[in-house]
Amino acid sequence: MHIRADGFIVAFMKLSTIIEKSLNEQLALELSSAHVYLGMAAYFEHTPFSGFARWMEVQYGEELEHAKKFFKYIAERGGKIKLQSLSEPKSEYKTALEAFQVSLAHEQKVSAAICALYELANSEKDFATVSFLKWFIDEQVEEEKNVGDLVVKLEMVGDNRNGLFQLDHHAGKRGQKS
Ligand code: MG
Repeated sequence: MHIRADGFIVAFMKLSTIIEKSLNEQLALELSSAHVYLGMAAYFEHTPFSGFARWMEVQYGEELEHAKKFFKYIAERGGKIKLQSLSEPKSEYKTALEAFQVSLAHEQKVSAAICALYELANSEKDFATVSFLKWFIDEQVEEEKNVGDLVVKLEMVGDNRNGLFQLDHHAGKRGQKS
C-alpha cells in the first residue's frame, strides 16, 4: 500500500510508468474492440440476419466490460487513466462470413496484445498485474473459440440459405437467459 501526494490511499505497490502506459494502451484497444463490434452490429442491422446483429451487440457489451476492468484497475493501482479518441469502424461487409473472419483476426490481435502485456508485467515483477491479466488470457481463449467456431460453420454452409438462417437463429440466442 502507498499514499499518493493528494492523500489517496492506493492498494499494493505503485504502477511503473511502462505498465501504466501499456494498461492504458490495452484500455484503448478494448474500447476500439467495442467500436469494431458495434460497426459489425450496424452492418448486420441492414441485413435479414437479426441473430448475428444481436450476437455483435452482445460482443460490443462484453468489450465495454473489458474496457471498464482496465479502467478500474489503473485507478485502483493509483495510475492515471488516459483516454484516446476512437477511429471510425468498418460497417460494410460483403458477407456474414467476412465479418466473422475480421472478428477472428481482431481477437487474435487482442490475444497477442494481452500476452505481450502479461510478459511485460512478469519481467517488471508486477505480480498484481500478472494476476489481473490471467482472467483476460482465459477470456481470449473463449473469444477465439466462439468466433472461430462461427467462422468454420459459416464456411461450411457457404451460400446455403437454410444453413445461414439456422446459424443466425442460433447466434441470436447469445446472452439470453435460458
Ligand atoms: Mg476484449
